[in-house]
Amino acid sequence: MNTYIERVLQETKDKNPNEKEFLQAVEEVFTSLEKVIEAHPEYEEHAILERLIEPDRVIEFRVVWEDDQGKAHVNRGYRIQHNSAVGPYKGGLRFHPTVNLSILKFLAFEQTFKNSLTTLPIGGAKGGSDFDPHGKSDKEIMRFCQSFMSELYRHIGKDIDVPAGDIGVGGREIGYLFGQYKRIRNGFENGVLTGKDLLYGGSLLRPEATGYGALYYIEEVFQHHNESIKGKTFALSGYGNVAWGAIKKIVELGGKPVTISGHNGYVYDPEGITSEEKINYLLEMRSSKDANIKMYADKFNCEFHENEKPWSIKADVCIPCATQNEVDLEDAKKIVENGTKYYFEAANMPTTKEALDYLLKNKVIVGPGKAVNAGGVAVSALEMSQNSMRYAWTKEEVDEKLHQIMKSIVESSIEASNKYGYDFDLIKGANIAGFEKVATIMMKLGLY
Ligand code: GLU
Repeated sequence: MNTYIERVLQETKDKNPNEKEFLQAVEEVFTSLEKVIEAHPEYEEHAILERLIEPDRVIEFRVVWEDDQGKAHVNRGYRIQHNSAVGPYKGGLRFHPTVNLSILKFLAFEQTFKNSLTTLPIGGAKGGSDFDPHGKSDKEIMRFCQSFMSELYRHIGKDIDVPAGDIGVGGREIGYLFGQYKRIRNGFENGVLTGKDLLYGGSLLRPEATGYGALYYIEEVFQHHNESIKGKTFALSGYGNVAWGAIKKIVELGGKPVTISGHNGYVYDPEGITSEEKINYLLEMRSSKDANIKMYADKFNCEFHENEKPWSIKADVCIPCATQNEVDLEDAKKIVENGTKYYFEAANMPTTKEALDYLLKNKVIVGPGKAVNAGGVAVSALEMSQNSMRYAWTKEEVDEKLHQIMKSIVESSIEASNKYGYDFDLIKGANIAGFEKVATIMMKLGLY
């Protein structure tokens, strides 16, 4: 290992001893950069890696809200503004009990490279709260969002930092957040958030964008392997926005999605989650107050495997769409045993290091999250463009742009991988391509 990379990895550990996920993400990116660092000694001189492990700014605040019984609750709110070399900070807000500093720092770090890959002018950030939206009433969600924005507003703006949704934050939450921002600012600055409803400045296709983008990415990789989506079976985890969009596109392209999963198990539907009724039911399930994946199994009369993950099901392609570290070594062994050749991460860092090493050692083609799922934030950036033009593109226009962006992400990953002598390495390629743009701009902007 290159001594500069080794030194900064050690420094990352020393400075962040308790931030497991953050360390994991930094290690994955930096170990891809060995040859880049050797080719560019000036990066060490300008402390590019040291600067990348220290977010531009970490904001932490108290969020007080009142439940329907009138009792007060306190949660912790965060915004990590990681890097703004490429453009204003951009990244989602996550509301989930697992949210902590390490998770958000890793997500913000990943976001910087992901956003750089999109070809669009956006920097990297992430935020959220350990608030658990599960089982909360609509009014409680509204009061939480208003309180959260009452602090966040001072740190964001259409040219400063533009949050969006992530786990636990969808169109409804973005609405309440924007309502509060508008009230505080006394102005209709809707470029400050993305993932908005169409009626007040959202982009067509934003809800579908992450899933559709993942499939455009897969299509492009398949072209290089003379493969096609038609006739292939897909095992997916999750059942939220990402899985829903991916399933819609898989079906449109002639593939067969057979699994979805939630926190308490997975559903196996050997007939395929292919009908409009089934796909729409995913949306219905998600919006129900006590959403539970078993509802799908009951309704469509198929297998529910309690407290298990979908990776023992034989499929041509696996797409984890749920959350970080959801696929461990045991799961990876099942995937290899099943003869699955393709594995595309649609969630952020869904694979543990041991599992990833095992998949790669066994010649599974892996598409990394920061590239595969970049379609979501890419369409967010298109939403920002439309807001500043005060004009809306048609669905076809957005789709065409998304398609081009995903193709260019695959092409630039392959190009970067080849340039440094790696053989079709989509992980190293994405890390190198994402990094090179950020580092080049940082060099031009001088020390800060
Ligand atoms: N949360 C999404 C992501 O992980 C979307 C972020 C955005 O649209 O800004 O990229």
